Amino acid sequence: MAELNLILLGPPGAGKGTQAARLTEDFGLPHIATGDILRAAVKAQTDLGREAKRYMDAGELVPDTVITGVILDRIAQDDARDGFLLDGFPRTVEQADSLGAAIERTGRRLTGALLISAPDDVVVRRIIGRRIDPRTGEVYHVDFDPPADASVELVQRDDDSEATVRKRLAVYHQQTEPLISYYDERGLLRRFDGTQAPDDVHAHIRAAISTLQREDEL
Ligand code: AMP
Repeated sequence: MAELNLILLGPPGAGKGTQAARLTEDFGLPHIATGDILRAAVKAQTDLGREAKRYMDAGELVPDTVITGVILDRIAQDDARDGFLLDGFPRTVEQADSLGAAIERTGRRLTGALLISAPDDVVVRRIIGRRIDPRTGEVYHVDFDPPADASVELVQRDDDSEATVRKRLAVYHQQTEPLISYYDERGLLRRFDGTQAPDDVHAHIRAAISTLQREDEL
């Protein structure tokens, strides 16, 4: 069976993390979420975390030179031998070029870039209400998906305030959206409607992955 090397694209709040968790279960691929890696580095106060924090707090992208090496090392690790699911990387054309070059150098191939899209007003509403159970990492929404146990104490990500979300969206449109045509031109882009129910998005993505796998084996 060929490797399954997937990229998830889309604005913050489109449901990339939700779908990634499901796809990881389906295919046994490591879920490599740059945001999670950076937040862990901030918490552990490593050099990477100290460098990244001010950009993250401002809703800006961490410089390519800071993040790209981390991700290229990560996909070279043993558990990513049969494939990987990148969530939040690449986010700029420069990152996409670095990833493409590294993949080619190692004789690998990208299987597909899965774009989950949703309009700005939808993702702003989702993100502002997003809360996390710090003990389990489970993600909830104060209105749409509150925890069954109301006594669970939830926290909000530092960068999930409305002002920072608007900034992150502007950055997405400006710096990350060009990747849509980048991967479309390479025949790798598949589009999904992130306003649909998570189960439906998941079903569509699974079907698309089956097709991509068949194409890859030809
Ligand atoms: P996320 O959890 O994917 O929304 O990422 C949170 C923050 O981490 C972003 O707003 C950026 O500051 C930073 N970040 C995550 N992935 C990248 C990336 N590929 N390039 C640059 N910065 C990133």
